[in-house]
Amino acid sequence: SLEVRLAARPKGWPTDETFEFAEVEVGEPAEGQVLVRNLVMSVDPSMRGRMNAGKSYVEPFEVGEPMTGGALGEVVSSRAEGVQPGDLVVHWQGWREYAVVDGKRTLKVDPDAAPLNAYLGVLGMIGMTAYVGLVEIASVKEGDVVFVSGAAGAVGAVAGQIAKLKGASRVIGSAGSAEKVRYITEELGFDAAFNYKDGPVYDQLKAAAPDGIDVYFDNVGGEHLEAAISVLNDFGRVAECGMISQYNNSEPQPGPRNMTMLVQKRLTLRGFIVIDHAHLRDQFLAEVGQWLREGRIHYTETVYEGLRNAPEALLGMMRGENTGKTLVKIADR
Ligand code: NDP
Repeated sequence: SLEVRLAARPKGWPTDETFEFAEVEVGEPAEGQVLVRNLVMSVDPSMRGRMNAGKSYVEPFEVGEPMTGGALGEVVSSRAEGVQPGDLVVHWQGWREYAVVDGKRTLKVDPDAAPLNAYLGVLGMIGMTAYVGLVEIASVKEGDVVFVSGAAGAVGAVAGQIAKLKGASRVIGSAGSAEKVRYITEELGFDAAFNYKDGPVYDQLKAAAPDGIDVYFDNVGGEHLEAAISVLNDFGRVAECGMISQYNNSEPQPGPRNMTMLVQKRLTLRGFIVIDHAHLRDQFLAEVGQWLREGRIHYTETVYEGLRNAPEALLGMMRGENTGKTLVKIADR
């Protein structure tokens, strides 16, 4: 079975030297474990953070060890209660063709209820992140003007649509190409969008939100965050979901220069990690599941073929080559 390991910790952008491939013998599952044949894996910006040393909210990858991450696969054999061969499960042992997983850390999914890939995207951790950020962290309410960065990406695309469905009066998105701007407005129903590479974020955001914004869902950090702070209305709320513009810096960069506005405008900026909000899972699945069935939420995927392309998938996503959720197809069902 092929697996991808962290070969060396990158300084700045990962390179070919960051990854190595290895063929390994897959063991039999022990009591309580299951053997899974992976079909598809998720590619996430947080994987870049885990390449650095030091504990964050999740353990770092270790040099010489296989990397981990969200994946969906078919159970080949099981010594875990309640898991049968043939079951389809989401688990945390991606970056490999076969995985031996603790049965308690698998989540069974129904292939008839939704397309399989959706369980790694809109119906999984991605959709949940968008939902938690808007509903719990930013307390989005009817009439809000909402700005979402990274709006053509996996989380951002769902976040903007949830904002609209929750009654936001105007939803503005930013992304890194003209095609993505078209996608956001024409296919996802955002009211306005701009390409942040066309000019200063502040100027473009101000033009799209002449009356200011009430909520900022931040996926990007950096210049976007500074611009949002300047354009936020009094008592505005920011859901700090991610800061992808900073992840490949080799040195920490200075933050927004306008932090005094937090006081003047009584702003709330709150960081969150989706795993702390499991209590909202049923509510999320009910609400977003319903919107999906009604065709009121749209999503797309960028799928790379084969585990050998997984490093390229991660780099491509960080370069902005994806639209929607980035996945690697490992095997046919
Ligand atoms: P995306 O699908 O959004 O892919 C990443 C996107 O980031 C790219 O498509 C690219 O789009 C954009 N990007 C890359 N570099 C820059 C830059 N310098 N400035 C602006 N945009 C950039 O990934 P996800 O949806 O999986 O993740 C989005 C964010 O959510 C990330 O910050 C991630 O860390 C965070 N996250 C947080 C979670 C939490 O629990 N808090 C859980 C999951 C994700 P473009 O072409 O527009 O530049």
